[in-house]
Amino acid sequence: MIETDISRVIIGEYGKKLAEHLENDVVIVGGGPAGLAAGYYLAKAKVKTTIVEKKLSIGGGIWGGAAGYNVVTFKDKDILDEIGVTTKKQGRLYIADAIEFAAALAYAAKKAGAAIFNLIEAEDIVLKQETVKGVVVNSASVRGLGLHVDPFCICAKYTIDATGHPAELVGMLKKRKPELFPRELQEYFMNVEASEAGVVEKTGEVFPGLYVAGMAVCDVYNLPRMGPIFGGMLKSGKKVAELINERM
Ligand SMILES: Cc1cc2nc3c(=O)[nH]c(=O)nc-3n(C[C@H](O)[C@H](O)[C@H](O)COP(=O)(O)OP(=O)(O)OC[C@H]3O[C@@H](n4cnc5c(N)ncnc54)[C@H](O)[C@@H]3O)c2cc1C
Repeated sequence: MIETDISRVIIGEYGKKLAEHLENDVVIVGGGPAGLAAGYYLAKAKVKTTIVEKKLSIGGGIWGGAAGYNVVTFKDKDILDEIGVTTKKQGRLYIADAIEFAAALAYAAKKAGAAIFNLIEAEDIVLKQETVKGVVVNSASVRGLGLHVDPFCICAKYTIDATGHPAELVGMLKKRKPELFPRELQEYFMNVEASEAGVVEKTGEVFPGLYVAGMAVCDVYNLPRMGPIFGGMLKSGKKVAELINERM
C-alpha cells in the first residue's frame, strides 16, 4: 500500500541517517548562522559533522531580521558571495533578504555534507576523562511536553555550542562546575563594533572538547550584544571550523 510505503521509507531513511551520525568528528548544537556556517566549512573540509537544532526551522535568529522586518545587515560580503546570497550595498553596510540568507546558508551546509537534525534538543553533555565527547539529546516534542522519556546520545571528537543566548552547553557545564565560569553567562549592553570583533576573537575552545561560536561567545565572555548584523556570526562559524580542522 502506498500509505505504508511512504511511512516505511521515511522511518527507514531517518533511522539510517541517525545511526550513521551517532558518532562524528564534530557535533554542533544550534542551527543559527554561527552553527550553520561552522557546519558548512567543516563539511566542506570533509570533517564528519552533525548539526542538531531544537526548532522546526533551521536558521536561528536570521528569519526575523530586526523586530520582524526580514532584512539582515553585514559589514562585508565574502562569505555571502561564496554561498550565493544576493547583496546590495547601502552606505557602509551590505544588506540581504533574511529568507534568502537563511535558506542559502542551510542549503550550503547541507550540500557540503553536514547532517542536520531539526526538532532534536541537546539536554546535556557527554563528559569522559574531563573532556566533552558529545551531547545527550531528546526529541524537542518530548522536551516541550516535559515528558519523562529517556534521551539518546550523539557523540563527537569535538562539540560546538552555537546555541546563541544563553550559551546552553556552557551553561550545563557551569551548573556542575561553577568554578570554571564564575561570572553569569550574559551579554553586555549594545555595541556593534566591539561585539563583532570580540565574538570572532574569542571564538574557540572553552573546555576540553567544547568550542563556543556565535552569540554564545558574547554570553561566555560578557561581550556587548550586537543585534541584527550577521557578519560576525558567519566569521565566528568559519573560525571555529578552522580551529577544529587544524586538530583533525
Ligand atoms: C529571540 C532572539 C533574541 C536575540 N537577542 C539578541 C541579543 O540579545 N543580542 C544580539 O546581539 N542579537 C540578538 N538576536 C539577534 C541575532 O538573531 C543573533 O545575534 C544571531 O542570530 C545569533 O546567531 P547564533 O548562530 O549565535 O545564534 P541563534 O541565531 O540564536 O541560533 C541558535 C540556535 O540554537 C538553537 N538551540 C538553542 N539551544 C538548543 C539546544 N539545547 N538544542 C538544540 N538547539 C538549540 C536555537 O533554537 C537556535 O536556532 C536575537 C535573536 C533572537 C531570535
